[in-house]
Formats: sequence, C-alpha cells, structure tokens
Amino acid sequence: MEPIVVCPQCKNEKTVTNAFIAQSNQNIIYECEQCHFSKRNIETRKG
Ligand SMILES: [Zn+2]
Repeated sequence: MEPIVVCPQCKNEKTVTNAFIAQSNQNIIYECEQCHFSKRNIETRKG
C-alpha cells in the first residue's frame, strides 16, 4: 500500500505518487490540486 499524504490546509488525501512532484534538483514538492497549497518536504504517514 502506498503511503498517504494529507494536505495540511484542506485535509485532502493523496497517494505519494500523485502528490509529489520531483524537481530536477532533487527537491520534492507537495502540491495539492484541490486548494493549490504547496510545500517542500511535507511529512508522510503510512496509510
Ligand atoms: Zn489542499
């Protein structure tokens, strides 16, 4: 099972695969398509 990421702003849940955008400089950005919140290195929890 994939880990789930919860948006801290709207509590929308997404799988890690769908939630994270890997940048070319190896930063990982979380982006919520629901509220357009974005954050680097957000915490994950096991689903
Ligand atoms: Zn959100």
